[in-house]
Amino acid sequence: MNLSNDVVSAFRDHYGAEPDIVVCAPGRVNLIGEHVDYNGGFVLPMAIERAMWMAVRYRPDQEVHLVSCDFGQTAHFNLDGFEYLKPHWCEYIKGVAHALQKRGHTLQGWDGAMLGNVPRGSGLSSSAALELAAAKAFSEVSGFPWDPVEMALVGQESENKWVGVNCGIMDQMISACGRAGHAYLLDCRSLEGTHVPLPTGVKIVILDTATRRGLVDSAYNERRQQCEEAAVFFGVELLRDVTPERFFAREKDLPELTRKRARHVITEDVRTLAAADAMRMNDSETLGRLMWESHVSLRDDFEVSNDALNTLVDLAMAHEGCLGARMTGAGFGGCAVALVREEAAAAFEREVAAAYQQATQLEPAVYVTGATDGARRLQG
Ligand code: ADP
Ligand code: MG
Repeated sequence: MNLSNDVVSAFRDHYGAEPDIVVCAPGRVNLIGEHVDYNGGFVLPMAIERAMWMAVRYRPDQEVHLVSCDFGQTAHFNLDGFEYLKPHWCEYIKGVAHALQKRGHTLQGWDGAMLGNVPRGSGLSSSAALELAAAKAFSEVSGFPWDPVEMALVGQESENKWVGVNCGIMDQMISACGRAGHAYLLDCRSLEGTHVPLPTGVKIVILDTATRRGLVDSAYNERRQQCEEAAVFFGVELLRDVTPERFFAREKDLPELTRKRARHVITEDVRTLAAADAMRMNDSETLGRLMWESHVSLRDDFEVSNDALNTLVDLAMAHEGCLGARMTGAGFGGCAVALVREEAAAAFEREVAAAYQQATQLEPAVYVTGATDGARRLQG
């Protein structure tokens, strides 16, 4: 699981020298609070054991040289002048460099080897892991202090403005700020976060449907648009400011689709705060129930699930060891997350995976994970 030694070997093989340091930044899974980050609401993600590792050697000049072991490719650019070229993993790193320079940080060059095990494009945010690992590498070699919130914003800016993906702030915040054994209740408007301990006696199981998001960008932008329309209707900047009471008093005046989208966002905020409370009380039953309610709302009101996710979540819920399950991430494929009694976890993994395979002819990947720390330096 920990690829620290492997990335050092890869660095040695490629550069014929030892790295100075190793940094890593995790992917994430969101326990509850889906499609609310861009509405300024509350999310409850945790950093997972799967991450991006980078072995790094300081350079005296302005060159950044990289080898991606996962892609078997190299890339380089000069910090004195670089521009966007074409869709490529290196652009995430150039975007981070650009955002850091814009914020006034003086950057130093480095040689890096990168190795990651966050599955790409399944909703566990391999991109945020890449961005935050790169930010950590720049911070270490350039000697500026690590401010996790600022670095999360840098990662988001890279993705929004340089790579051109319209993501919210959740992924970068949890990859920067995660704490072992805890989920992170994040207010996506103020960016204030609270670490909330995971309940005892349960496991977090991530189940990948093995279906990938198609048309996700247009659907995502359409949802954002619909949320903005609802916010305009209520005369607020962000839907987060509409209470359930206010919503239910006026919802009949909204067009059907806008009403459903807003209903998801507004009720999801309530569920997420309740889920954090349940975790603080070590009440995994309530947490599980709220996860299931979140899934229903995403499926029926926000309409971002798909058949594979619904099948997988239904099979998970039908297992006696399961306290709750839902789709997680942007939707239209990717992963589900389940809260499972510890003693039943092994059977759950085996039986739900087999049932899903039988129902769909698709092979689900299963990841059981604890919650880890956010982006960090490992050695050297
Ligand atoms: P996700 O949901 O996993 O964040 P994205 O499409 O947002 O999916 O990001 C995936 C992109 O991030 C990849 O296409 C690649 O450019 C970059 N990336 C992710 N993991 C790695 C890796 N291990 N090595 C190099 N680039 C990576
Ligand atoms: Mg991503």
